[in-house]
Amino acid sequence: MRKTMKCAVCGGPAQDSGREWEQERVAGVSFRVSVPTVACPRCGETYVPADALLAKELRIANRVLQGPMRGDAFRYARKALGLRGADLAEILNVDAATVSRWENKGSVDRAAWLLLGAFVREKLAQGTLDLESLRKEGAAPDAEQELSV
Ligand SMILES: [Zn+2]
Repeated sequence: MRKTMKCAVCGGPAQDSGREWEQERVAGVSFRVSVPTVACPRCGETYVPADALLAKELRIANRVLQGPMRGDAFRYARKALGLRGADLAEILNVDAATVSRWENKGSVDRAAWLLLGAFVREKLAQGTLDLESLRKEGAAPDAEQELSV
């Protein structure tokens, strides 16, 4: 059964209308990604929903982060996570110029590379990544806590 959603262009009732291939070249690799499309009978628009475009970028990021450490792959993954260079610098406690150097000169820090990969996997698995909690140190825990496994 076809799912009905709100058209992102005119707000009318739009429906799943199949899939199409999108091509994107990232870090020297050509990706062909199958994405869902939505069609709106009212305005005639056919488009790829924003959440599918984000999922596409995260999947590509996850793939390129498994390859060699490259500045362009690092930059792509950072952007797929919705992070500005300054955001990532703050999280990692480095200068924004350092992140810029990793991306432009390809001299990516291994710990930062692995962490970005963990962020991408978390966002793929959870659908979200709590960036605010990454920015600050956690609050002091209660002195006694109960856990269950
Ligand atoms: Zn429409």
